[in-house]
Amino acid sequence: MSETQILVVEDEPSLAEVVSLYLKRAGFEVQVASSGGQAMSILEKRIPDFVILDVMLPEVDGLSITRWLRDHSDVPIIVVTARREEVDRIAGLEMGADDYVVKPFSPQELVSRVRAVLRRVGRDQLGAESGKALTFDSIQIDPRTRVVMVNESQVELTAKEFDMLHLLARHPKQVFTRDQLLERVWGGAEYIDPGTVTVHVRRLREKMESDPSKPKHLITVWGVGYKFEP
Ligand code: CA
Repeated sequence: MSETQILVVEDEPSLAEVVSLYLKRAGFEVQVASSGGQAMSILEKRIPDFVILDVMLPEVDGLSITRWLRDHSDVPIIVVTARREEVDRIAGLEMGADDYVVKPFSPQELVSRVRAVLRRVGRDQLGAESGKALTFDSIQIDPRTRVVMVNESQVELTAKEFDMLHLLARHPKQVFTRDQLLERVWGGAEYIDPGTVTVHVRRLREKMESDPSKPKHLITVWGVGYKFEP
């Protein structure tokens, strides 16, 4: 499995530097955005595995980014705030952040919080029942009921078709290789034919795409794998 990729959104260069240093030392892959605008242009291309988000940012503030992220994915988020007012913390958590830290904080403490959130999220994802419903233009995916609606009519999916769709849709625009999909949907069972993934993608397209030969959502990235385009 590849490293967990963390986007650190922080406009104070020295803090961004020390945080990314500690995260890298802890084995994470780190990308830094120094403004809300820069963060959004990164996130619109690809949502990473984890986001650490300062609240007070130039251009787009951290809470707006949290809200946007929650509309588009269930990526774990830790909000960093300089203000001790409860309102910031609560607003961040109510908007869907997984945890928060108050400045000044020790970088080691932040690393521990990241690990704790990843453990919690990992547990949640083991039972795919949990998690919030994802809504895109014409598609709704509810992991609790395992119901998928396309243009307001329900689509019948097998268990594995659902698991694969839910995995891809939780990470819009992120490309998954066949091996990653086998690992995460089928538990990496070695006796599974890699062609299984191709077959499942084709069936999903037949059930969900208005023109399965020209898919708009379940996209093949040639030579790499598949991604979900919202
Ligand atoms: Ca700031």
